[in-house]
Amino acid sequence: MKVFLSADMEGTCGIASWAETERSTPFDYTPLQKQMTREVAAACRGALAAGAEEVLVKDAHDSARNIDPTALPRGTRMHRNWSGDPLSMMTGLDRERFDAVFFTGYHAWASCPGNPLSHTMNLRNNRVFLNGTLCSEFLLNSYTAGYYGVPVAMVTGDQALCEFAKQLIPAIVTVPVNIGRGGGITALHPDEAVERIEEAARRAVAKADLCRVPMPEHFHMEIDFIKHSVAYSKSFYPGATLTEDKMVCFDSDDWFEMLRFCHFVLSDG
Ligand SMILES: [Zn+2]
Repeated sequence: MKVFLSADMEGTCGIASWAETERSTPFDYTPLQKQMTREVAAACRGALAAGAEEVLVKDAHDSARNIDPTALPRGTRMHRNWSGDPLSMMTGLDRERFDAVFFTGYHAWASCPGNPLSHTMNLRNNRVFLNGTLCSEFLLNSYTAGYYGVPVAMVTGDQALCEFAKQLIPAIVTVPVNIGRGGGITALHPDEAVERIEEAARRAVAKADLCRVPMPEHFHMEIDFIKHSVAYSKSFYPGATLTEDKMVCFDSDDWFEMLRFCHFVLSDG
């Protein structure tokens, strides 16, 4: 059993402002960077205790150099920084065979009130729709897992995202650590979050086979950009169309082609 863990930060226990996600503001960032590392380490410990031989951790936030590797247990490896391929937050899933995907520190989608930091990939869009559903990074990365045939067994983050995850994958193990309300949050005690994540990771390893991602036969994405000038420029991606002046749309039956579209249109500056 090998686990792939993609770690984001805006769903870390206690996080409530952008300054807490950015290395350039160390007074705010450092305590949350430590908590992010503790939560990833807890997920790795749980997975290894439940019989996983190895966990590959993809640091998937901002610089992708947030987690302190010295705090992770033996049996883990890390992918740091950005390779630049369309897998993005899931880089590494395509090069080896994995049996389960975990997401830690994940957050609600652009426009969702469940997290003051809710967004989808960046802050250049108002909303992203995928097959008519408001699209989170969790949904994108779950379909990437499904594309490679790997179940998504655990997600930790804000409560709104955890509730969405249960709708997509009913058997998934979730650990809600924050409840958003307007610009603020109510969070668990950081130690309690760590304990719950370790215990959840154990359960997730045991039931990973039940957590297959249901893959649609066709994908239709609409990105509602904030700036019409950005939408105009991005609409020249091959096969993309522009509607309502700020909405860029793309269709494919092949998830990797949708990932490629996201790589150049949704994610790239
Ligand atoms: Zn992030």
